[in-house]
Amino acid sequence: MTISRDDVLMWIKNYAGVIRENKEYLTDLDAAIGDADHGANMDRGFQAVLGKMPELADKDIGTIFKTVGMTLLSTVGGAGGPLYGTLFLQAGMKTAGKMELSLEDLVTTFEAAISGVVMRGKAEVGDKTMIDALTPALEALKKASEENQPIAEALAAFAEAGKKGMESTTPLVAKKGRASYLGARSAGHQDPGATSSYLLLRTAADTWGDA
Ligand code: ADP
Ligand code: MG
Repeated sequence: MTISRDDVLMWIKNYAGVIRENKEYLTDLDAAIGDADHGANMDRGFQAVLGKMPELADKDIGTIFKTVGMTLLSTVGGAGGPLYGTLFLQAGMKTAGKMELSLEDLVTTFEAAISGVVMRGKAEVGDKTMIDALTPALEALKKASEENQPIAEALAAFAEAGKKGMESTTPLVAKKGRASYLGARSAGHQDPGATSSYLLLRTAADTWGDA
């Protein structure tokens, strides 16, 4: 079983809806340890991405991801825009010309995408950022792929590990981004970027669960 180009478009479209639904929630999380704009930032970016959907209908997966990345880079300010932009641009490099993705392709694509975020933001697991959700999720996806699990189960494990990673950010003291300016006072709050990243993985599992 594979993820088709249409499945990829559906993931992006569904995520734009999930971000819209969670805009206030993400902003509230960012109000506690940042500047209360993460929900608005992500929503602005993904509404702009929705505007690109018509021209992506017949494109390969690499072009779809590249367009999402470029759109986020040009419309989202702050730390989140460049980081999510990088994630999608790197995913686009790995999937250039592809019309479908196997579970193995998903592993190499997310691996490249997340490495891109690490290279750009220099965050490690435990720094209280989106990396805390993305890295354990990737590990779970890799393990599921190595065990030849069906794609739906692999994606469920992916999202579940992302959820645990997101939750793990609550007690942490932020080492990167705006929240790090608060020092010890950043502890006791869930990281907004880890939350939007978990939602991205959850939406992949929900969208592709029966692919
Ligand atoms: P800003 O902090 O500029 O207002 P956002 O509010 O959109 O940008 O995004 C904040 C999120 O970005 C944080 O919750 C964190 O997860 C993520 N983040 C910030 N800096 C980094 C970094 N260096 N590496 C990875 N993620 C980061
Ligand atoms: Mg912010």
